Amino acid sequence: MRPWEYSAFAVTVADARDIAPGWRRLTLAAPELRDFAPWGLDQRIKLVLPLPDGGLADFGLMTDPTPHPSDWYARWKALPETERNVLRTYTPSAIRPEQGEIDVDVLLHEPPGPASAWAAQATPGERLWITGPDRRNGWTGYGLHWQPVAGATRWLLVGDETAFPAIANILRTLPEGGRADVLLEAADVRDDIDAGRLVRVLEDWTPVLAPLSLYYPSRRNPTAAFKAFVDFARRRSHLTTQPGRGLPGSAQGGNTLG
Ligand SMILES: Cc1cc2nc3c(=O)[nH]c(=O)nc-3n(C[C@H](O)[C@H](O)[C@H](O)COP(=O)(O)OP(=O)(O)OC[C@H]3O[C@@H](n4cnc5c(N)ncnc54)[C@H](O)[C@@H]3O)c2cc1C
Repeated sequence: MRPWEYSAFAVTVADARDIAPGWRRLTLAAPELRDFAPWGLDQRIKLVLPLPDGGLADFGLMTDPTPHPSDWYARWKALPETERNVLRTYTPSAIRPEQGEIDVDVLLHEPPGPASAWAAQATPGERLWITGPDRRNGWTGYGLHWQPVAGATRWLLVGDETAFPAIANILRTLPEGGRADVLLEAADVRDDIDAGRLVRVLEDWTPVLAPLSLYYPSRRNPTAAFKAFVDFARRRSHLTTQPGRGLPGSAQGGNTLG
């Protein structure tokens, strides 16, 4: 067993492309990524971004085998902030060990932070470092939180934009015949509405206190769980947009589902 379930990998940006408004997909490559464990799902990894001069501070990350974070992370934290590499958490959206590649989908949020700003301008050839699961350790499950109940046939997945890659990976693994309800928070879904992938479910209100919009692929055949959620959202919108009014007994008068 190596000192830690994760290893550090020195990687190069092999490709960087915009995949949707506000999203940039980076393909990171290195021969050593053949050892990156292909578990997928919601696997969290760290991006260790280059310093302004392109380098990596000396905090022992690339010692072989990769030391435990109690060693390298403590040394990283002890460095002055301006002299240490930015670390941020991401999820591989694809893992291709046989090609020594992983993809990472980066949300270009506004205002940007160091990682999203770096990703927005990243071009092929740039070097960075990542930490992630190493298949030489065998299965450990380290960095995965998705633990579905064995035999389940219904799932509820909820997340904001940064969870899109994890949720997409999870959905691809669910067995045939089950049903997943997926609730995603997104700042901008105009593209999906224009393309007909989503329709508006809640009324066209402009709530003052708690803007809430909800989109779904179709109004046809919603599950009972989703109808209940829409009901809840309607009642909540009533509460926040019409101060002084109590909870209506049931949601009336809005768009109906099904
Ligand atoms: C387990 C896990 C997996 C993740 N996977 C992904 C992934 O695959 N893709 C991905 O894009 N992100 C992912 N994230 C989220 C990512 O780590 C954060 O968004 C991170 O803060 C981005 O770093 P930054 O340097 O761009 O911004 P920061 O320096 O961390 O933040 C700068 C400013 O931006 C704001 N900010 C940060 N993130 C967001 C956001 N998402 N929306 C709006 N404002 C924001 C902060 O509040 C702050 O004000 C994941 C996070 C976790 C915990």
